[in-house]
Amino acid sequence: MTRRAIELLLLVALGAVLGWVQSSAGWTFAGGLTGALAWSFIDGLRARRVVRWLGKADSARAPRIGGTWGEVIDRCRKLIKKLEKKAQNSDARLEDFLAAIQASPNGVILLDSSGRIEWSNLTAANHLGFDPQRDLGQYVRNLVRNPAFTAYLAGGDYSFEIQIDGPGPRPSQPTKISTQLHPYGKKRKLMLTRDVTAVQLAEAMRRDFVANVSHEIRTPLTVLSGFVETMQTIPLDEADRARYLELMSQQAQRMQTLVSDLLTLSRLEGSPAPGQGEWIDAEELLTHVLQEAKGLTLAIAQTPHDIDAVAGPGLWVSGAKTELLSAMSNLLSNAVRYTPGGGRIRAGWRMREDGGAEFFVTDSGPGIAAEHLPRLTERFYRVDRSRSRETGGTGLGLAIVKHVAQRHGGRIEVQSTLGEGSTFVIALPASRVRERVSG
Ligand code: ADP
Repeated sequence: MTRRAIELLLLVALGAVLGWVQSSAGWTFAGGLTGALAWSFIDGLRARRVVRWLGKADSARAPRIGGTWGEVIDRCRKLIKKLEKKAQNSDARLEDFLAAIQASPNGVILLDSSGRIEWSNLTAANHLGFDPQRDLGQYVRNLVRNPAFTAYLAGGDYSFEIQIDGPGPRPSQPTKISTQLHPYGKKRKLMLTRDVTAVQLAEAMRRDFVANVSHEIRTPLTVLSGFVETMQTIPLDEADRARYLELMSQQAQRMQTLVSDLLTLSRLEGSPAPGQGEWIDAEELLTHVLQEAKGLTLAIAQTPHDIDAVAGPGLWVSGAKTELLSAMSNLLSNAVRYTPGGGRIRAGWRMREDGGAEFFVTDSGPGIAAEHLPRLTERFYRVDRSRSRETGGTGLGLAIVKHVAQRHGGRIEVQSTLGEGSTFVIALPASRVRERVSG
């Protein structure tokens, strides 16, 4: 204040002195007045600079003015700096927050009061098939053209979620997207999306599985209870009784096999993969399953099959012996059951180019059409339903083989030509195979 007063006084005094030089009291007064006016003009200019700068509120470009205005500027500059820092902090926090929502596995969309997209994360854009940059500001109802969604959006009751089709890999294979709106603020809405395709698929598979198991168990049960009823109501001679009991025993056996396969599958799915632990002689495994197959062909084929081992390298394989035996014997029993009697079946171990080894079973059976191959390892998938049933198949054999192979880090492979035969392979990785040095 002192500086401003001194400036004013100096200018007034300068004006008055200049007027006094003109040697009249009137001029002296006019000079003083002019000095005062000049001061207020200069002060006005300074005030204008300050006001202009405040308009821009840029702390780095503060005008350099001394005195009271300088003090005003300095205080304002400090205040602006504080506000700038605060704004920077909240910007950074907002960015962190948005980055976190971007990373969310769920889709998040912010809708304004009229239903236009204000912000969306990439997940939501992918779920609903729009562009998160280009489509900002678009009405969501124009982007999600689904009657159920349009009705939901317009209905105003958002207490439940709805499911709509999202863009899938193919138009015939849409993804299933679950979405729900949550109102907030002034008529704004938070829209959340979730991809539930896998959940729905798992649920459908579970339903199919339960239906299949029930069906598989009901068939022999119906036959069994039919026989029981017959035996209870009709007097039978000894021969018929024996025949009926034999058929009943077959049905009971069928149920037993099914339950046993189901238990094997659930054990395979529910337990950790076998460790590297036990090293097993591959030839021992082969001899065991070949013997089983030879027994089976004698039991079911009118003309027994020609079953033999193909000599291969001496090998040790590591894994769970019971699992490997069960997988190998499933392949051999399939070869016996699907190849007409007298057919040729060869099995053995051989090395693979990748350093691993494989157990193979080749038969001269009916072969399998190419369109069935990708589905063979699905539970209860059968190409030849009646042949499978006749020979006591459960439809779970190859599913078990696939699981065992995968648990050992390997896989099942199938090559087949209709009318010529099939080759099924269990391929094991190099880490599970050692060549035996013959001594
Ligand atoms: P199943 O208990 O019915 O044999 P699998 O899972 O073992 O069930 O096999 C699935 C289907 O694959 C069989 O129903 C059969 O139609 C076909 N299949 C399996 N092995 C052979 C084979 N060696 N030759 C021809 N078809 C086969």
